[in-house]
Amino acid sequence: MSFYQTYRPKKIAELDLFSVREVLLSSLASGKISHAYLFVGPRGSGKTSAARILAQIINCQENQNKSDGFSEPCGQCESCQVITKGSSVDVIEIDAASNGLVDDIRELRERVRLAPVQLAKKVYIIDEVHMVSSAGFNALLKTLEEPPEHALFILCTTESQKVPETIASRCARVNFTKATIEEVVGSLMKVVEGEKIEADRETLQEIAEATDGSFREGHKLLEQIAAFGKKIDRSILTRILGTAGRPSVKRLLEAAISQDTELVIKTFDEMEKTSAKAPVLATSLLILAKTEMENCIRESRSPEMYLKLIDSLINAADKIKISPLPLLPLEIALLSIEGDGHERSKPSKTESPLTEDKPAPVKEISDNKVTQKFSATGLSIEDVKTGWGSFLGYMSESNGSLAGMLRLVQPMYVEGKAVVFSVTSRFQQEMLEREVKRKVIEEQMARVWGPMTFRCVLTDKIIRTQPSLEDENVAPVDDGVDTVQGVMLTAEKIFG
Ligand SMILES: [Zn+2]
Repeated sequence: MSFYQTYRPKKIAELDLFSVREVLLSSLASGKISHAYLFVGPRGSGKTSAARILAQIINCQENQNKSDGFSEPCGQCESCQVITKGSSVDVIEIDAASNGLVDDIRELRERVRLAPVQLAKKVYIIDEVHMVSSAGFNALLKTLEEPPEHALFILCTTESQKVPETIASRCARVNFTKATIEEVVGSLMKVVEGEKIEADRETLQEIAEATDGSFREGHKLLEQIAAFGKKIDRSILTRILGTAGRPSVKRLLEAAISQDTELVIKTFDEMEKTSAKAPVLATSLLILAKTEMENCIRESRSPEMYLKLIDSLINAADKIKISPLPLLPLEIALLSIEGDGHERSKPSKTESPLTEDKPAPVKEISDNKVTQKFSATGLSIEDVKTGWGSFLGYMSESNGSLAGMLRLVQPMYVEGKAVVFSVTSRFQQEMLEREVKRKVIEEQMARVWGPMTFRCVLTDKIIRTQPSLEDENVAPVDDGVDTVQGVMLTAEKIFG
């Protein structure tokens, strides 16, 4: 038996996902078990394990004729044992992803009426229920509308949006999330203790980071590594984790930041050969980039590059699913990092199909001319710029890291009671506009300019000098303004 099977949780209290454990424990305590459940969550998050435990709970002989609260399965009685062995005719597991299912579900409607043979209750566990055909769903719906007393339905799915609302609304929904790194480590600890494997916490943490929040994947990796010996060898660990391992991700990120495009391309080439998993790599890269970004802020260095990188990695992660080459969005994100002073000269790069449309700075600048007149406070952008230094000073006193973030924004113009800041990344925008942070920022703004609010606009690059658009003689590309704008201005001039 594999580690995952051997160390499957046997009680609700042993479930590795904290939130699921709490929800199910409280329904046990209250003695309220629904006649139908919808378990929603990613692969390897423990849905089937939880379903089998529930099947045992309602059938365990200790729980028969109980009126107040259920206990965990005893594991000893006949019912518990046949279910553990998977040999009970009354626990029916259907995999909707396999063929011939429509008939199964149609027949189900007939067969569900028949009393259980062996156990107190029949339990139907339907895996990947979103794959059921519409005819199948109709049959299922009729069954759920008038559920027989002696049946429990547990529908499991990785894609809840594909389950018809009529079905979902008749089930008690339990959300299984991706496991946190801590939760995967906790689950691996049980194996390490049980199998007497010598592995320190850091090793387990590294394995957990490579799993994309899946317990099953974690167990599989640990099993592969432990096959080489009970004392975990660093070189084996690196070999099995491959590109998802911490040292190689670090090297990749460093190559990207130093714009060593050759090395980035070469690494991705190797990864394709070893069929590295794109979602896992995306998470590992993000974790590392986040740490680096925080280090920059702590050490008062500019985190701008990491902010941009985090932004493009988040965008790239979105595209992994729809890309026929799952690693490609990540490769593009890493290859398109721009360093300070490395201006892009080719417009084709900024039109990468993998970066979302960004608002053209041109519009913001022309807005500038108009909106400045409507300042409700009588405050001009010049006043804001004059007070900017003292504002940053107050900010540093009240919140150092937030001040670090604000050093990267540029006040652009005043609009009503709001100062409009230019930011270069969505991440930055979201951080600053978060309610708690907004409050802190506005408090300090008030000390300099009186009661004011602010809003952020996303621009490609911080605009340090604002050229006059009416001036025909301005050569846009050399202005220190972003290239996108330059190209647009040039295009305007050419095409009128
Ligand atoms: Zn029992």
